[in-house]
Amino acid sequence: MSISNVKMEPVSIKLDNISKTFGEQKVVLPFSLEIAPGKKVALLGPSGCGKTTTLRLIAGLELPDAGGKVFLGDKDVTLVPVEKRRIGMVFQHFALFPNMSVEENVGYGLRVRRMPSLERKKIVGEMLEMVKLGDFAKRRIDGLSGGQKQRVALARALAAGPRVLLLDEPLAALDAILRVSLREELEELLGKLGITTVLVTHDQDEAMALGDLIVVMKEGRVEQIGSPEEIYEEPKTAFVAGFLGGSNHLVGTLDGDYLRLPGEASIPRSSLKKGLAKTVDPLVGATNGKVSVFFRPDKPRLGPVEPGRMHGTVVSSRFIGQKTRLVVHIEEETFIKLELSGKSYLPGEDVGVDLPPEELLLFAEA
Ligand code: ADP
Ligand code: MG
Repeated sequence: MSISNVKMEPVSIKLDNISKTFGEQKVVLPFSLEIAPGKKVALLGPSGCGKTTTLRLIAGLELPDAGGKVFLGDKDVTLVPVEKRRIGMVFQHFALFPNMSVEENVGYGLRVRRMPSLERKKIVGEMLEMVKLGDFAKRRIDGLSGGQKQRVALARALAAGPRVLLLDEPLAALDAILRVSLREELEELLGKLGITTVLVTHDQDEAMALGDLIVVMKEGRVEQIGSPEEIYEEPKTAFVAGFLGGSNHLVGTLDGDYLRLPGEASIPRSSLKKGLAKTVDPLVGATNGKVSVFFRPDKPRLGPVEPGRMHGTVVSSRFIGQKTRLVVHIEEETFIKLELSGKSYLPGEDVGVDLPPEELLLFAEA
């Protein structure tokens, strides 16, 4: 890999109270964010939550609602058109020119800027080496695999020496196996380039692997901004807790001295104080009422049915290497998924689910 000759001077990105309304629809609600030079931020959320729109606001493909500002470095670029922002962008479906060769695609932007052909060839060659497509320069786009197209799009975005890289679901068009290996390549490449990057994804693993900072969005609203660890360990809202980590979700009731959960489970309220204090504390002090309770599949222990434990019946049990994955029916429509090591259980067995209070994440029911 030779990236030494590619001029990258990462800049900070500052979004100041940006929002976007289309007609009546508020697609992005006002939020602010600062990204230090060279950092990678993942915008994470379900389809339609406003990720692409946010990326387009940064790029200058959309103008924010009045009052919102976009800064690159110290410069207010809110009114600067996209072609003057020195941004490299990879669109969701790559948007390559199908009837051009790989090298023509990568060099397109440089040709538009009238870079002399010799210089252009050199940069295009370097870019193709960087994404390991050195032997594919003359190939036509329509003959490439999804992964190769993805790399061509990335090479094209980087060829002009952008100050900022914007990636819209860069791996979503690829099949699952390719996605994981290309995610690792992308992680390595972005690390080496040190370019300030904003990446859009609906895949939490991708956001975790590639983002220094994650912005979780829901229906146009920023729910939480934090490091992967913060988002995972200390989700601030029920949505974030539910979206990450494949958690179980139950509705419980804070009732006197106990948290009561389906399956006749009751957990002393005082024991909830441990551990996840940030999310639990306000509720421990709160009046009685319904709460959303989240816990990860690997946290509970299983044992015999005992008072206080959650009662259930094993529905399925599957050995997956180090662990066994169980589904346990609690009552009516309520099922939980568990991942256990050790003793195996058989479908039909009645079990007591021991929920460690310090592993429970509680949120007031909306
Ligand atoms: P995401 O990338 O998270 O899937 P988008 O930012 O593409 O979400 O879209 C968010 C919402 O904004 C969607 O409801 C979408 O239909 C709407 N939207 C996006 N672009 C436009 C537009 N140009 N005009 C009107 N509505 C739009
Ligand atoms: Mg999108």
